[in-house]
Amino acid sequence: MKVVVNQGNCIGCGACESICPDVFQINDEGLSSVIGKEEDFTNHEEEIRDAVDSCPTGAITEEAETPEVKEEE
Ligand code: SF4
Repeated sequence: MKVVVNQGNCIGCGACESICPDVFQINDEGLSSVIGKEEDFTNHEEEIRDAVDSCPTGAITEEAETPEVKEEE
């Protein structure tokens, strides 16, 4: 599992950080960053789901284990 925060949608409310500070942290710009590593995602799956559900702007997404290959334009 992989977790991504779309900072363009983040309003810095801090909900994700308070639910799972091992994975989410509000950065110097006041936006959420993913600080967790793969093992943290596995250990905190439930909290991550809570954070996804609690994010008021839907900025957090979980991605499947196999990363999608994105071509740069
Ligand atoms: S819960 Fe959503 S809007 Fe709030 S800080 Fe986290 S990512 Fe940003």
